[in-house]
Amino acid sequence: MPDSTISDSPLPGLYIVATPIGNLGDIGARAAATLASADLIAAEDTRVTAKLLTHLGLRVPMTPYHDHSDDRTRAALVARMAEEVVVLVSDAGTPLISDPGYKLVRDARAAGRHITTLPGPCAAIAAITLSGLPSDRFLFAGFLPNKAKARADTIAEFAGLRATLVFYESGPRLAAALTALAAGLGNREAAVAREMTKLYEECVTGPLAELAARYQNAPPKGEIVIVVGPPGDAVAEDADDATLDAALHDAMADSPVAQAAKAVAKRFGRDRHEIYARALALKDQA
Ligand code: SAM
Repeated sequence: MPDSTISDSPLPGLYIVATPIGNLGDIGARAAATLASADLIAAEDTRVTAKLLTHLGLRVPMTPYHDHSDDRTRAALVARMAEEVVVLVSDAGTPLISDPGYKLVRDARAAGRHITTLPGPCAAIAAITLSGLPSDRFLFAGFLPNKAKARADTIAEFAGLRATLVFYESGPRLAAALTALAAGLGNREAAVAREMTKLYEECVTGPLAELAARYQNAPPKGEIVIVVGPPGDAVAEDADDATLDAALHDAMADSPVAQAAKAVAKRFGRDRHEIYARALALKDQA
């Protein structure tokens, strides 16, 4: 049974509070009460959190806490947790999830402080619920690297996992990420969840290559989560010789021939040896 008790005077310690990912109405009652009773809010960006506090009609002292905060800042916060209620928030969603905080929790734990979490919005979880893709087993992969080679290597690490994959992304990088995912994972079913809980919320679903083509010349605005179904949901793309050669050409720009051939064969549901021979022929012509 859920316990609806909210203590009137919370114990001193660290309170990890999830905040809305767009719609301020998504702040929970316990989260709001905890913010109201905080002695100090450690915020990723105090200007962003100030808007939430104004929405709630609260005035609470804040201090910045972000990825670049040093050991001294952390030690000072951990010291205050002995006597005071210190709340950790990020700009949006659940702190620590592609956001600052794990070192603060680690140090607070090492110091034996009282630590509790107030769960709430998280873009990764919200996107899984919207996607219609298998949700029984998933891997949260955060942001993919920016550079093509590092991105392809990272994607290759996930290729064998029998799990739905979840990535955070931005509009300008979306098409390149979807293309790289199709090349590395095969043309799996996927979803692009955008601007969730906001006015222009949408969730577009389809095979990765189709989504890549859709966004190629029309990078969308706003915040985005990509959800990719597990292997077995791959849809082989139809391809003529010119399409195969173009895909091989792109893949060989970033990877060795064998790896490029493997990715292209997977993407188009073709025989690996046939595509490898084609790749070698292309390389000879170059
Ligand atoms: N801690 C946050 C959470 O719990 O979701 C995530 C922080 S991360 C720095 C920000 C990324 O989350 C964005 O670049 C985007 O990929 C995703 N995101 C956040 N809000 C979103 C929204 N309303 N709709 C879609 N994606 C969102």
